[in-house]
Amino acid sequence: MARYKEASCRLCRREGTKLYLKGDRCYSEKCAFVRKGYPPGAHGQGRQKISEYGLQLREKQKARRIYGVLEKQFRRYFKEADRRKGVTGETLLQILESRLDNMVYRMGLARSRTDARQLIRHGHYSVNGRKVDIPSYLTKPGDVIAVREKSRNNSFFKEMAEWGEAQGTVEWLEVDRENMSGTVLRLPSREELDVPIAEHLIVELYSR
Ligand code: SF4
Repeated sequence: MARYKEASCRLCRREGTKLYLKGDRCYSEKCAFVRKGYPPGAHGQGRQKISEYGLQLREKQKARRIYGVLEKQFRRYFKEADRRKGVTGETLLQILESRLDNMVYRMGLARSRTDARQLIRHGHYSVNGRKVDIPSYLTKPGDVIAVREKSRNNSFFKEMAEWGEAQGTVEWLEVDRENMSGTVLRLPSREELDVPIAEHLIVELYSR
């Protein structure tokens, strides 16, 4: 399966914001964006002039990187958002939010979306009682996501339950820490999402 393999911290520096791609490290002083909050490369600290197209492109790249989605799939999500009723930008974010890897991360069952993707591929989670090992699986309201029975005694997941407790839960999900599971109550509204994305720029980019 294709995936992005470059150093994660470069991506945060390129996008000029923390993308939280590395779990605990992102919340510590070791975070590269805290230490070097300018773009990577020889001209990273120079003055940068950016065109309208450049702004739109950067916003799209930022969204892709936050959710860990490759270009082709991201474009497919946009087409689907455009086809559905409602505000295209908001619908696009809702589709991205409904990916299983994002849900696992939001429920505090993994420390980052990157970790969630790997753990899902290794078959540690189920949706509605059935094993799902596809990170891009799109969940819907009413779905129950859980750490599978055979993985629950693993010390890693016990630690995760404590970590998730400390992180708290978003309002559109219900989490049962004791049973290492969570239910999707509904899709989030734009106001509820904490992602630093100006989605209208992405809509403008794909509408060119
Ligand atoms: Fe980004 Fe996390 Fe690296 Fe900080 S530690 S630069 S937030 S990936």
